Amino acid sequence: CGIVAYVGHREAAPLVLKGLKRLEYRGYDSAGIALLDAEPSPSGLRVYKKKGKVADLENELAGKELAAKIGIGHTRWATHGAPNDVNAHPHESQDRKLAIIHNGIIENYAAIKQNLIRKGHVFRSETDSEVLIQFIEDIRKETGSSLEEAVRLALQEVVGAYAVVILSEEDPTQLIAARKGSPLVIGVGGNEFFFASDATPIIEYTKDVIYLNDQEIAVVRAGELKIITLDNAPTTPYIQKVELEL
Ligand code: GLU
Repeated sequence: CGIVAYVGHREAAPLVLKGLKRLEYRGYDSAGIALLDAEPSPSGLRVYKKKGKVADLENELAGKELAAKIGIGHTRWATHGAPNDVNAHPHESQDRKLAIIHNGIIENYAAIKQNLIRKGHVFRSETDSEVLIQFIEDIRKETGSSLEEAVRLALQEVVGAYAVVILSEEDPTQLIAARKGSPLVIGVGGNEFFFASDATPIIEYTKDVIYLNDQEIAVVRAGELKIITLDNAPTTPYIQKVELEL
């Protein structure tokens, strides 16, 4: 239901958690966060998630290693699978190197899931969202393509509505986001980028925002942003000043 993601020079965890609280008005049943160190490190991808409020997630995080310059967070409004810790987002790929947060519904998830199960994939949750990240992982391994290309190919097969943000352990400077139907706003700061379901988590840091269009994929890598369409056509990002006041 709510998405917040950050990559830049600030500590990601407190920023993402604060952003999730700003989105609480949208309603949700569970919350979670995935964090990565600035450099590739043995601690790898860290995923924490919890049924209940963002405050319950914060209790869960007490004493945990939260240092990270890149992070994605989610508040879930369950559509596929009961509201519980396991079905909460982020969801990880089979090899736990990728994590996704997803708003919306993948309508053809059952067919994709059956295909992946036939190929040996095992699922941890009951969600449509986990199917999408394992599908992306599978395409990547089958085609040897970049993550960006695997995301694009997967989304071309997806029927439904989504706003997604994806994180990969292999590149702690990279966030890939996409939308169709569900809203997604990108905040553009000095060498930092914010992603959220609406501008409220972003405006205290920057007023420069891009409203991602339907069927677009935004890729931030090493401090650069580019936007392509689902058909792989480059587009020129339209940055506007957000009017919203807190
Ligand atoms: N369909 C997904 C799920 O049930 C995402 C729901 C949402 O938008 O929060 O986990």
